[in-house]
This record gives sequence, structure tokens and C-alpha cells, in this order.
Amino acid sequence: AFNFSAGPATLPEPVLKQAAAEMLDWHGSGQSVMEMSHRGKDFMGIRNQAEADLRELLAIPANYKVLFLQGGATLQFEMIPINLLRGKPAADYVYTGVWAGKAIREARPFCQVKVIASSEDRNFSYAPPQSSWKPNQDAAYVHYTANETIGGVEYHWIPDTGNVPLVCDMSSNILSKPVDVSKYGLIYAGAQKNIGPAGLAIVIVRDDLIGHAVPTPPTMLDYKIHADHDSMFNTPPTYGIYIAGLVFQWLKQQGGLAVMEQKNIEKAKLLYGFLDQSRFFRNLVKKQDRSRMNIPFTLKDEALNEEFLKQARARGLQQLKGHSSVGGMRASIYNAMPLAGVKTLVNYMQEFEARFGK
Ligand code: PLP
Repeated sequence: AFNFSAGPATLPEPVLKQAAAEMLDWHGSGQSVMEMSHRGKDFMGIRNQAEADLRELLAIPANYKVLFLQGGATLQFEMIPINLLRGKPAADYVYTGVWAGKAIREARPFCQVKVIASSEDRNFSYAPPQSSWKPNQDAAYVHYTANETIGGVEYHWIPDTGNVPLVCDMSSNILSKPVDVSKYGLIYAGAQKNIGPAGLAIVIVRDDLIGHAVPTPPTMLDYKIHADHDSMFNTPPTYGIYIAGLVFQWLKQQGGLAVMEQKNIEKAKLLYGFLDQSRFFRNLVKKQDRSRMNIPFTLKDEALNEEFLKQARARGLQQLKGHSSVGGMRASIYNAMPLAGVKTLVNYMQEFEARFGK
């Protein structure tokens, strides 16, 4: 079966097989990783290797900390203003869909949120070009969502915000391509799409932005506490970190992020290519801003939605139903989705169109 879920999403098969083989006895330790002390030598080795591999994959500069946290990407919607306002009254946000909207809503209790660009005018079907952004002088940071998981809109460029730190929600496209981390003040991502199991969130933050949280922040919401304790202030999500580490190793074996990007381009091209010539299926996102990870599409005859999903499931094509807020279908094709999965989907869609698309 091929799983097109937006998250928790499919993981690389070799990773799951290795985890299964090591489940009861990790490297002859007689223990499962789940049972290890997080401060013991074995787990510290796993954690340190995971961080080293992530640093290598993304070429993370030495002046950035990598934090392994909990609370999903959603907790970052709050931790970001708590930590990065640094006494300033306002923060700039770009509004591109459901996830940017949630980040905006969660920041509002902490500061003046200024929406400096939005794609609401065309139903969130594009990424507002930077020429349309209206940045504010008093903004502590600029926040944007690199890939709108529900709308299927992705930035294929990095905004330039000068000296104002750029903050990015990369939950649904992190590790899908190389990224120049030095352009960012902070990058965050929930793990459950391209990294590993839900329950782990990763924050990559520049050193100088740590240690300026609002007065007496809740301990667990202070980046400095986590940075000072190497993400071991309390018990971290150990098993999630272990699986993430296996995914990082798998990515290195694939040839790194430049190779992953080519594979992701190939997969996305195949599906968009089919959608664009179809008279029955369509995707409404502006071509240059289309996501390589999440591809929403609709059927010309919506009354056939259930039939489409039923026949898809019968062929092992799982979780194609679109998000409830937008309807239609969505194929999420993260790093772990093989080209064969997309080919099988396109073949199925072709047949479905031939049969019902008259
Ligand atoms: N940001 C984006 C772009 C997402 O796709 C998601 C979840 O799907 C989130 C944030 C929220 O992540 P979490 O459920 O880990 O809090």
C-alpha cells in the first residue's frame, strides 16, 4: 500500500525495518531504545549522532542550536513570541493559509501581530511575492510558513528580511531540499511528516536569539533552558529522536538533500503534469508556488469523491481524502513516498478519468 497521508505520514521502509529489528535488543544492549535512560551512554550516543547527522544534512552553521522538543509545531506558535520578541512590541506575519493563520492567532496575545502580506484575496492559492510585503520597522521578527500543508502552496525562494530575523514553519517541507539555514533566525518543524514520529519537534535557532524571553517565562517554554541542557532539561521524546536519527541516516544514504530535491521534483512533476492535462481533475494553486509535498486536487464531478476514494483504497492507495476544511483530495508525497507510489496513483487517476470523466 502507498500512504498519502499529510501527517503522521509514511516513513522510509528501511527505517521501519531497522527499528523493528532493533526493537527488543538495540545493538546487543539487551534493551529497547524505549527502555533506555535518556542520560545513559547508549541514548546519548543516539541523540548526539542524530544531531550531527541533521547538522550535516542541512549544513547548519555552528552558531545555531538544534533543539529536540515536544508539543509539536503548535507549541512553537507560542514559544516564538515568548522568546523572540526581545522587548519589541510587534511581529510581522505572512498569512498564506490555515497554518500561517494558526501561528498568527497564537502570537496575538503576546504582541501586536502585523500581517504584512496575505494571499487570502485569492483563496490562499499562491505565495505573496516579496515585492508585495510591507515590513514594519518595529517588528521583532518576520514569520512565514514555507509550505502550507492544507492549501498545497510552497515558497520556492527564501525571503530577504535584512536584519530582522526570519522565522519559518518548515513542518511539511523540511529536509525535502537543501536550505541555506544562515538566512534564518529560527526554523521549526513538527516531526511527523519528513522526520519521524509525532511527539517530536525540531527547532534550529541562532545563538544570539536565545536568552531574551519575556520576564520569567514558563521554564519549559524558554529556549535557553533547552539549549543549556542540550534538550535534556526533562525527559525528551527518546524514541522519536531515535527514529529521526534513522531517517537522517537514510537521507544521507540516499545522497543527501540535493538528491532528495531531485526525486521530489520528479514525483511532483509527474502528478502535476497529469493534473494539468486532465479534463477531470485539477489543482488550483498558482503554478510557480505549487507544493512538491502536498498536492490538493478536485474532481470535476464532486459526487464521485467517495467512489474515487473507495476504488483508490481497493488498490492500496490510502489517505487521499483532502483536509475537511477544503474538501476534495490531497496527495502528500513526502521524502518517503517512492516514485512508484506516484506512478500508481497517476495510473489509477487516468483509468478513473477514462471510465467516469465523459
Ligand atoms: N505547521 C504546519 C505547516 C503543519 O502542517 C502542521 C501540522 O500538520 C503544524 C504546523 C502543526 O503541527 P503539530 O500538529 O505538530 O503541532
